[in-house]
Amino acid sequence: MEISDTSQNDLLNPTFRSPRLNHHHFRNLQPLTSKRFIGIPPAFLLDDYIPRYNLLSSVSAAKKRSLAYAHLQNCNLCPRKCSVNRFKETGVCLIGAETAKVNVIAPHRGEEPCIQGFHGSGSVFFSGCNLRCVFCQNHDIAHQRKGFDLTPEELAEWYMKLQQVGNVHNINLVTPEHVVPQVALSILAARDMGLKVPIVYNTSSFDSLESLELLDGLVDIYLADFKVWKDSTSKRLLKADNYTATAMDSVKAMQKQVGDLSFTSDGIAKKGVLLRHLVMPGKEDEGREIVRWLAENVSKDMYIHIMEQYRPDAHVGKKRRTTGSEGGDRKEDVRYAEINRAVKDEELGSVRDAAVAAGLWRFCEANENSEFHL
Ligand code: SF4
Repeated sequence: MEISDTSQNDLLNPTFRSPRLNHHHFRNLQPLTSKRFIGIPPAFLLDDYIPRYNLLSSVSAAKKRSLAYAHLQNCNLCPRKCSVNRFKETGVCLIGAETAKVNVIAPHRGEEPCIQGFHGSGSVFFSGCNLRCVFCQNHDIAHQRKGFDLTPEELAEWYMKLQQVGNVHNINLVTPEHVVPQVALSILAARDMGLKVPIVYNTSSFDSLESLELLDGLVDIYLADFKVWKDSTSKRLLKADNYTATAMDSVKAMQKQVGDLSFTSDGIAKKGVLLRHLVMPGKEDEGREIVRWLAENVSKDMYIHIMEQYRPDAHVGKKRRTTGSEGGDRKEDVRYAEINRAVKDEELGSVRDAAVAAGLWRFCEANENSEFHL
């Protein structure tokens, strides 16, 4: 198998860090709660853990295989609902049926400490996406079909290499919403090869309930974004009409499957939902609505990462030519100027305060040395 360009050197390199995907550029912020919870609360401590895919019966596994192929033949698997036979044509995601397009496979140390642990998270970055976020910090991967094509069996072989050579704590499927059938088939193939680490489904939450049903029993951790609250914002910035309602249904379904995030005594997350919200400049009111909704409608024990590392990227801040109001003069302007800056500490603080006020208390926090911590 040919692995293209620079990513080849990074594959299975435990020191690999993707500069575009490092989520831990923390500032010195005050702790979220006056009382820091040290250690793992007993309710979220697991004695041992067997991944859910290793508990599936052979009959259930066979049903999932059939369902995956059925979805590919008439794909409505994400909210784009293209109704195409992916063996013959492609939908909005531009990805067919037999393979998934992958950009990078590597142990990754840019995730939350309980996901990356000591050895890294075995990350598989899929090319393509069913959203078109104008600020996407992975736009060179997500908005283009760059990378190499892998069948589900080849994907499974890479999971095994990540487990055996990389000694990773989990297999972390990044931006997989548009290749869920291939992902489901790959997990089933890897289970037959001896995979034994948890599966992390790293999603924008722009999933369908049918897609999440296919993943039920195969995924251990949902690493889920909740991006924006207002439909006008999702339409403008994510290029999706129904993001918020979809994310609400998706997060509820994920929580129903795997519950609140739980850990083994080594501090590594094994099962549950880890919810991410990236605070956006000038959109802290939407962040406050999101954390309130999560506390009131999903779980006050939800493990949540309120992320501060927004920076203008992709289309944001790019110069464009616009027509002036007088005399047809043309002047330079920048695109999406309202989010063309970093997030202010007070914006971040207001979302954090709202989360605490709503009753959330399990936060992913920075520590002093940015090393592994709970
Ligand atoms: S996964 Fe792709 S083909 Fe299927 S509905 Fe979504 S965008 Fe369309």
